[in-house]
Amino acid sequence: MLLTVSTTHQPATDLGYLLHKHPDRVQDFRQSFGTATVFYPEATQERCTVALMLDVDPVRLARSRRKNAPDFSLAQYVNDRSYAASSLLGVALADVFSTARSGRCNAKQELADSAIELEIVIPVLPCRGGAAIAHRVFEPLGWEVEAEPIALDDAFADWGDSRYVRLRLTGVVRLADALSQLHVLLPVLDESKHYWQGPDEVDKLLRSGEGWLAGHPERGLITRRYLARTGALARVALARLAELGDDVEAAMDPAEDEEITQSEEKRVPLNAQRHEAVHDVLLDLGARSVIDLGCGPGQFLKRLVKSSSFTRIAGSDVSTRSLQHAAARLHLDTMSERQSERVHLFQGALTYEDERYAGFDAAVLMEVIEHVDPPRLEALEHVVFGAAKPRSVVVTTPNSEYNVLYENLVGMRHPDHRFEWTREEFAAWSDRVAQRHGYGVERRGIGDLDDRLGTPTQMAIFTRSGGTDD
Ligand code: SAH
Repeated sequence: MLLTVSTTHQPATDLGYLLHKHPDRVQDFRQSFGTATVFYPEATQERCTVALMLDVDPVRLARSRRKNAPDFSLAQYVNDRSYAASSLLGVALADVFSTARSGRCNAKQELADSAIELEIVIPVLPCRGGAAIAHRVFEPLGWEVEAEPIALDDAFADWGDSRYVRLRLTGVVRLADALSQLHVLLPVLDESKHYWQGPDEVDKLLRSGEGWLAGHPERGLITRRYLARTGALARVALARLAELGDDVEAAMDPAEDEEITQSEEKRVPLNAQRHEAVHDVLLDLGARSVIDLGCGPGQFLKRLVKSSSFTRIAGSDVSTRSLQHAAARLHLDTMSERQSERVHLFQGALTYEDERYAGFDAAVLMEVIEHVDPPRLEALEHVVFGAAKPRSVVVTTPNSEYNVLYENLVGMRHPDHRFEWTREEFAAWSDRVAQRHGYGVERRGIGDLDDRLGTPTQMAIFTRSGGTDD
C-alpha cells in the first residue's frame, strides 16, 4: 500500500519541515496492524515527494481488532488489506503525520498555514461505487481529480474493471487539510474500516472534518459511509455538522436522511419485520425444532426462545465473536436448566458438512447467503439441502432492485455482501436449488412494497417434497 504527496512549492524540500520528517532519512513506524515506512523518493529544490508505504501484517491486523469488533472470520486472514490502499492507510497517515495534520510547525508556521501546490497519488485504492465517487467527494474540496479504474486483468479486457482505482489529486491546499481529508475520505471510499465503532467516532469525524466537512455537498454520504450506516451515529453527526455549517436547512433535509429513516425508527425497522415474518412462517410450517444458520449475534434466536412453540432451538455461526454476543443476549449462562436444554449454540462453517446441522424441522438462513462467495454457494447448498436436509428451509436475502430507493446508498447494503440479487436472480437460484434437492419452493416479500421494485427483503420457503420427519 502506497501513497505519495508531492509539492512544487519552492523550496520544495520544506515539505520535510511541514511533515516533521527529514528528507534524507527512511523511518519506520510500528502500527497495530503492521509497519508504516516514510521516505522521500525525490527531494530537490524544485520538487519534493514523500512516500508513505504500509506493510500490513495480517496476523497483527486480526489481533489488533478491538474486543467488541464483530469477527468476520476468514475475512480477517483472506483479504486485500495488504495490497490495496485502504482505511488502514488513512489510520497510519493520521498517526505518522499527526503533528502535520494538526497544522503546527514551529520552524515554518507561515508555510503550514498556507495553501501550497500538492499532488497526491495512490496507485491502488479500493473505491466502492466506482471512480465517480472519488470525484464527488474530492472535487468540492478544490482538488482536480483523476480516478482511473483498474482492469481486473489486463489480458482479459472483457472481464471489466475491478473495484480499484488509481487516484491522483492535484490542487493548492493547506497540507494539514489535505491530510485530514485523506484520513476521513480513504475509509469512506474503501467502506471497510468501520465495521466496528463506538460513540467517540462521531467526535473523531467532526475533529478531522473541521473546516471542510460541514459545507461539503456530500457530507451526508461521507458521514453515513464513515459511520458505516450506523443510523443513530450518522444522525448525531449530521445534526452536529448542521450546527457548524451555514447551510443548516440542507444538512437536515429529510430527503437526505431517507436511507436512515427508511430502515429505522418511524416505521418498524426492517430487521424486526424480517424476524416477525420468518417467525410466523415457522409457526405456519408447524416447526417445533429450528436451527438458525448464520445466527450472528442472536437477535432472531432471542425471538424464537420467547415463543413456546419451539421446543428445540439451535444457532450456529462461523464467527465465535458473534456466538459470544448471542450467548450474552440469550443469558445462556444464567438460564434455567430446562431452558438451557432447549437452546444450543455452536460454531460451524456452512460450506462444510456437519452432522450437527441435521435433525431439525426447519433451518433458517436469514441474510446469510449474500455473505458467501458465489463459488462457495454450491457447497452451502449441498450442506443445507443435500446433507442436513431439514423438512423446511427459510432463506432471506436483500432484493437489489429496491436499493435505488435508498437515496444515499452506493453499491451494496453492507460492505461484506458478496452479491445482492434481483427478484429474478433469487427466483432462478431458489428454483434450481429446490429442483436439485427435492424441495418445493414459495417466495414472498418482506418490508414495504414498491409496485415496481418489490420489497426490500425477499424470502424463499422451501419444503421437502413428500417429506416427513427424519
Ligand atoms: N442471521 C443474522 C446474521 C446475518 S449476518 C441476522 O439476520 O441478523 C451474516 C452472518 O452469517 C454473520 O454472522 C456471519 O458470520 C455468518 N456467516 C457468513 N458466512 C458464513 C459461513 N460460511 N458459515 C457460517 N456462517 C457464516
